[in-house]
Amino acid sequence: MIAEILSVGTELLLGNTVNTDARDISEYLSALGIDVGWHTVVGDNPGRLTDAVNIAKSRADLIITTGGLGPTCDDLTKQVLAAAFGIELYFDETEAERIRGYFSRRIGRPMTENNLQQAWLPVGCTVFSNLWGTAPGCTFEKDGVRVIMLPGPPRECRAMFENCAMPYLRTLGEGEIVSHNLRIFGRGESEVEFPLRERMNAMRNPTLAPYAKEGEMFLRVTAKAATREEAERMMEPVIAELRESLGAVVYGVDATSLEAVVSDLLREKGLTLAAAESCTGGLLSKRMTDLPGASEVFRGGAVVYATDSKTSLLGVPAALIEEKGVVSREVALSLAENVRAVFSADFGVGITGLAGPDGDGVHPVGTVFVALAAADDSFVREIHGGRDRDRIRTMAASHALDMLRRYMTGLPVEKI
Ligand code: ATP
Repeated sequence: MIAEILSVGTELLLGNTVNTDARDISEYLSALGIDVGWHTVVGDNPGRLTDAVNIAKSRADLIITTGGLGPTCDDLTKQVLAAAFGIELYFDETEAERIRGYFSRRIGRPMTENNLQQAWLPVGCTVFSNLWGTAPGCTFEKDGVRVIMLPGPPRECRAMFENCAMPYLRTLGEGEIVSHNLRIFGRGESEVEFPLRERMNAMRNPTLAPYAKEGEMFLRVTAKAATREEAERMMEPVIAELRESLGAVVYGVDATSLEAVVSDLLREKGLTLAAAESCTGGLLSKRMTDLPGASEVFRGGAVVYATDSKTSLLGVPAALIEEKGVVSREVALSLAENVRAVFSADFGVGITGLAGPDGDGVHPVGTVFVALAAADDSFVREIHGGRDRDRIRTMAASHALDMLRRYMTGLPVEKI
């Protein structure tokens, strides 16, 4: 079965709203073993919506629409879909009553008559009552095509999919598609993809797909089988082989993030961290404290952005800064060692660099020194994060986390 997701709403075309419904439904369908062939977005225009439905009918077995089920005159999805499939609409008294009840109980103000427009549904459809809002969804099958209509608001769309559409689709028995993500730090997309290219192109089930996000790489392994267990069995040797060939740059399979991996390691070993951050402005501290239970492993951080604050707050010798420059491996190390001492932590991280756009006349923009100080060992990485300020900062914080991960797992720390 191949599905098309047809998202209706001019706000999606204008870029005012991100099409998260399509993303959510794609994820659900993937878990159900249903291939998604197309995402289509169309505005609230009956002519173009009709065209889009006719195209979808001609190529997909399952059409899932989102949006345009509401009470306003631009909510046309049911009318257009019904017309395109040659089905009449009927007024559903039960849904009308539920909508009236929703207004009196939940909203506490009189309902305007246009709300009843939402109770018009295609004859012969299975109604999906909207227990999370007003507009009901529905499903019908005609001309060998199944149609599911869901409301636009993401909360309602997800709830209706999980509670109404999912049980219905499960009865169609398409098996399961299961995916695992190998998370990689320290290799670019092309470096990961190139040696795997031939193999990847030849693979049919499981499949392999590399993608990059926020300075990290993901390798998604996906298998389709009758059961989840069988899909897992098919993927196991592939994942093991990839881990073996990629080595230490793989920091986890289905791990949530580098910081989560580092936090878990710190917690497991009963160790703590403190951070002295200059160009990252607290990003590393933020990432560590985004995690629940951070206080067990994160002692604290100092944002020492101005040069003199590195000296006054963390005791980096002014002479060292003068001699080596504020962006230097020596200053990064001093920050790491001193913050470790100030916060009485097991590890100190020091980050100093040039996030741009201005340089220092010595180093290119994007140069960052990241230091890690442990009880009787210390390490520094010099990184070059490009010219984009956000990317440089993200990369610097990620390198610090990667160094910690490597130190705690006995891997080489400075070299990737
Ligand atoms: P309502 O009953 O609220 O009118 P509806 O089914 O008619 O629901 P729309 O009017 O199209 O849906 O959209 C309602 C809200 O949901 C809007 O805030 C819109 O931005 C958001 N929305 C619509 N479609 C999507 C989508 N595909 N992804 C994310 N948000 C969406």
